[in-house]
Amino acid sequence: MKYYSTNKRASDATLEEAVVKGLAADKGLYMPYQIKPLPQSFYDEIEHLSFQEIAYRVADAFFGEDVPADTLKQIVYDTLSFDVPAVKVKENIYSLELFHGPTLAFKDVGGRFMARLLGYFIRKEGKKQVNVLVATSGDTGSAVANGFLGVEGIHVYVLYPKGKVSEIQEKQFTTLGRNITAIEVDGTFDDCQALVKNAFMDEELNAHMQLTSANSINVARFLPQAFYYFYAYAQMKRRNLADNLVVCVPSGNFGNITAGLFGKRMGLPVKRFIAANNRNDIFYQYLKTGQYNPRPSIATIANAMDVGDPSNFARVLDLYGGSHDAIAAEISGATYTDEQIRETVRQVYDETGYLLDPHGACGYRALAEGLAPDEVGVFLETAHPAKFLQTVEGIIGRKVEIPEKLQAFMRGTKQSIPMSKDFASFKEYLMNE
Ligand SMILES: *Cc1c(COP(=O)(O)O)cnc(C)c1O
Repeated sequence: MKYYSTNKRASDATLEEAVVKGLAADKGLYMPYQIKPLPQSFYDEIEHLSFQEIAYRVADAFFGEDVPADTLKQIVYDTLSFDVPAVKVKENIYSLELFHGPTLAFKDVGGRFMARLLGYFIRKEGKKQVNVLVATSGDTGSAVANGFLGVEGIHVYVLYPKGKVSEIQEKQFTTLGRNITAIEVDGTFDDCQALVKNAFMDEELNAHMQLTSANSINVARFLPQAFYYFYAYAQMKRRNLADNLVVCVPSGNFGNITAGLFGKRMGLPVKRFIAANNRNDIFYQYLKTGQYNPRPSIATIANAMDVGDPSNFARVLDLYGGSHDAIAAEISGATYTDEQIRETVRQVYDETGYLLDPHGACGYRALAEGLAPDEVGVFLETAHPAKFLQTVEGIIGRKVEIPEKLQAFMRGTKQSIPMSKDFASFKEYLMNE
């Protein structure tokens, strides 16, 4: 399958080129030329299939032309070694729990899938080592690092701002060792991102080592998230509740929801989508006004959604031929303040005993406010509440149990390389690697 750039000024790429490069030369995002519908027979029997079986069918539609069937199946089955259950919260509202993976956040699937696919291309081509640079404000770094841990031929450098990520988050990428190096930058998240961008643009450095990125602009990281939507549908169909299904996605960079929109293009019977935002409501405003006005992000308690210029907006626009009407017909928006998020976590916990994390709370609330009586809603619960321990404990006024997987990270020993925020020292460090 060939991929084109959303800016339409770069040459087409193969899957391998799109995965290794990440961003097209014209700074556009890669889009597949075809989004193949899955046959009716698949949808007719989907409720009898396992998560892995469903995911493989979806992966085959995207990647089957470029990856041998047995390899692709292995990649999918290795990636999805955990369940993604739909749990009833209240009458017609269900939580699709995406947090049962190794780092308890939904980015695990994209991180693991991309690591395995890139690993396959490296083995196949006998390529020299590929180096993944990733700047993180917390969650992306842990999912990418854990996804790539132990994958041969790939080294990952995680850059994070010193003193600005929570202890739990820091432990998830500084304790791994092996092919993962954590770099503790004396600066902000923006400084980390600037270091990564400068590294990609530095000719001497790129001649010295093969560099690539692993954020949701990469097709290998964002497309596998489509698996979630098919499996959500299958679970609701098992319950005979899939006829008027509304899926609500807490959104930041819009990679996750875009994968869902691809699913709908493949024939998945989702009636409509809701994109739930925190106060960073750029997409919500776009839906209302037709104007896309990016602006600096505002810090909120749902911080993985603090994005002022969602990178995958370009893909959403491209998917609907740039038509605001077409976008607004399939996606509606919602936006919530920190106070509303707190109120939602508290209320739902008091009324049902279900503990939301701040991101999932936006998703739940958008359904509670926006569902019609004949609709059933599923929101994507994108992280385990214990990942936002202090916030959540502060809201409900009691201790939250920390899952064993997180506790295991906490017992590890932090190892990191201190780095100043000026590019010269970062470059010198990499040149000596
Ligand atoms: C990354 C993230 C999001 C936002 O996902 P996008 O694909 O960037 O829209 C939401 N919630 C959590 C917990 C995340 O880590």
